[in-house]
Amino acid sequence: MSNIDLKSLTIRKAHEDMKAGVFSARELTQAYLDVIAEKNPNLNAYLFIFEDALKQADEADKRFKDGTAELLTGIPMAIKNNICIKDKPTTAASKILENYRAVYDATVIEKLRKAGVVFLGGTNMDEFGHGASTENSAFGVTKNPHDNTRVAGGSSGGSTTAVSANCCLAALGTDTGGSSRQPASFCGVVGFKPTYGRVSRYGAIAMGSSLDQVGSIAKNVEDAEIVYNQIKGDDNMDSTTIPESLIKEPKVKEKIVVGIPRNFLKEGIDEDVMKNFEESVEKLKLLGHTIKEINLPNIDYALATYYIIMPAEVSTNLSRFDGVRFGLHKEGENLLGDYMKTRAEGFGPEARRRIILGTYVLSAGYYDAYYNKATALREVMKKDFAKVFEEVDVILTPTSPTPAFKIGEKSNDPVQMYLADIFTVSANMTGVPAISIPSGFTERDSNPVDGQKGKQLPLGIQFMAPWMGENILFKIGKDFLGED
Ligand code: GLN
Repeated sequence: MSNIDLKSLTIRKAHEDMKAGVFSARELTQAYLDVIAEKNPNLNAYLFIFEDALKQADEADKRFKDGTAELLTGIPMAIKNNICIKDKPTTAASKILENYRAVYDATVIEKLRKAGVVFLGGTNMDEFGHGASTENSAFGVTKNPHDNTRVAGGSSGGSTTAVSANCCLAALGTDTGGSSRQPASFCGVVGFKPTYGRVSRYGAIAMGSSLDQVGSIAKNVEDAEIVYNQIKGDDNMDSTTIPESLIKEPKVKEKIVVGIPRNFLKEGIDEDVMKNFEESVEKLKLLGHTIKEINLPNIDYALATYYIIMPAEVSTNLSRFDGVRFGLHKEGENLLGDYMKTRAEGFGPEARRRIILGTYVLSAGYYDAYYNKATALREVMKKDFAKVFEEVDVILTPTSPTPAFKIGEKSNDPVQMYLADIFTVSANMTGVPAISIPSGFTERDSNPVDGQKGKQLPLGIQFMAPWMGENILFKIGKDFLGED
């Protein structure tokens, strides 16, 4: 075992240490590989460990020698397994892509590669991003490192567990309805989703194309920011990215006005979550920020409309998996039979549920009643947000209504599972950036009778900022965590 203190390591510290020759990129990568070898068989955070990790680290060491090293050179990262890395298995945790190897790098990977990042492996997730617990992976659940009987959250649960358990220094997740933020709150790390259009989606396997963004997951806010700064920017391969000339960043003020939608924080929230939230509000006040009550009159509809628009987009995006071009192929009686057999065997139950829901809301008889209404409401919600952001700099909510739940607790009840997304989906529906910040712990499963101590489960709070207001999120997040 190496003597590098991985627990306290950040990207900047690792960079300085590698630059000063305290340790090499090879030694750092080896240190993470050792932890992975020890912990991953139990946690199941990674689906694949890349055999060339040390070779990548050697390349990074060369850059330290020849003076071309950047901040991310030699930094060992984990990548959610729905982001294409050339020649590496990219499965989106689905049987339908079990043997698929990406034939090109996603734009975000290309950008990280240029900076000299070491890719350690591909992380577990809910199949195609469908879920909030990683239980929908075709390759087994990822455990929460704080309590192995509980879920890591999802869908980027592999990435957040990997960061939390020191199996990598930082990670990429994706976020369609909260998948970088909710698991971050369950695992006690930072999870960040950029403004829609700030980061290229090219090479990230599509879930809901009008909602998807690639997010960063890290131990602190600065690391999440460093990764974001490397992957952001417009891209000819993704026409929804915002051209640099149109980027207008809102001003970052020293003292921030924090809006709280009290009307939205009434029901169904765990008591300890609410207590922690109120404590977080007090802490923000002590830091000199102003708290203001706001009204988002239609936010109650965010979850219901998300669960119309998202499956509609899922059903169209997943139609490309026909057993002919990618991954699994099953022989039927004719071509249609091939499609049916391949898709029936290749997709798990949740993917199939969403395809059915999506085709239903898009079908001729129901399109107006569901899909059109949901898209209209989405526009109304965007206007509500724009109006509120005239009064406040950020919106604050808990990240999740509960701490990490038990493995199996919600897996047979999709509606309960969908409710886990109540606070996160509105950022995707409106396109604004959002971040989950660790805000403390709550104890569970203690037994007063035999005096047995319980497990400390992490909690998180979520800030949402106006479009392109990423820097406001980094500022208030750092303030909250006391990062300088
Ligand atoms: N939990 C949400 C869902 O199941 C979010 C998923 C995501 O962001 N990929 O759709």
